Amino acid sequence: MPELPEVETVRRGLALRLSGRRIIGAELRRPDLRRPFPPGLARRLEGARIGDLRRRGKYILIELDDDGLLLLHLGMSGRITAGGNNTPDEKHDHVVLRLDDGTVVRFNDPRRFGLVDYLPRGTEGAHPLLAGMGPEPLGPDFDGAYLAKALAGKLTPIKSALLDQKIVAGLGNIYVCEALYRARLSPRRLAATVTGTRAARLAQAIRGVLDEAIEAGGSSLRDYVQANGELGYFQDRWAVYGREGEKCPACNCKEGVRRITQAGRSTFYCARWQR
Ligand SMILES: [Zn+2]
Repeated sequence: MPELPEVETVRRGLALRLSGRRIIGAELRRPDLRRPFPPGLARRLEGARIGDLRRRGKYILIELDDDGLLLLHLGMSGRITAGGNNTPDEKHDHVVLRLDDGTVVRFNDPRRFGLVDYLPRGTEGAHPLLAGMGPEPLGPDFDGAYLAKALAGKLTPIKSALLDQKIVAGLGNIYVCEALYRARLSPRRLAATVTGTRAARLAQAIRGVLDEAIEAGGSSLRDYVQANGELGYFQDRWAVYGREGEKCPACNCKEGVRRITQAGRSTFYCARWQR
């Protein structure tokens, strides 16, 4: 599933093609994805001029000049591409927008866990999917002090706590594993014990790994591509994720990278390097 760096990469790619353009055609080829499309969506989109594109956690928010906001989530397999008007239709292109300069934007989603919603701008803080979301890890409100406070009293493993979007927005399985390795914290450690310098180290590791992944254009996951169809390359720099049994990059442990299951998801880590 695309995480913050992949969504941010898509947002940046789309912003270059979409901002300032007018939508001249909106086609919905089915009534829903994970949820039904809001009533009258195509009509609302047609004629609207696109303003800024924002991101909140793993959501993309597209500002429209009618004071509306288009909310997108890629789900498990969603991808949004912006290409020329000669790009062919593909199976699973569920939403197709035509812009006034000939650009065609396609939301393709074979597994249909993605989401498209429309809401009045300014109400996004109250939207059920965005309300209660924790701070942006790359924003000014996220640091060790915040993290220690958010984790206080949490009797779950730190791995699970970091996947909780109410604690911090945008992280998923890959970047949580990578950040914990970088911070030398065991994924099994009780969240409440991450305080003081440990919390500061973890906050810094999270920011570092996200920054580097965005710089690399995200990780190329099975179904994920950037808005221009290119692939990111951060997956080549994963230290532990998906590397069970491989040499641990930071130490000479015999065991190498281990995989365990936590809350039904794979965790990759080194039991010696991470405590
Ligand atoms: Zn090791």
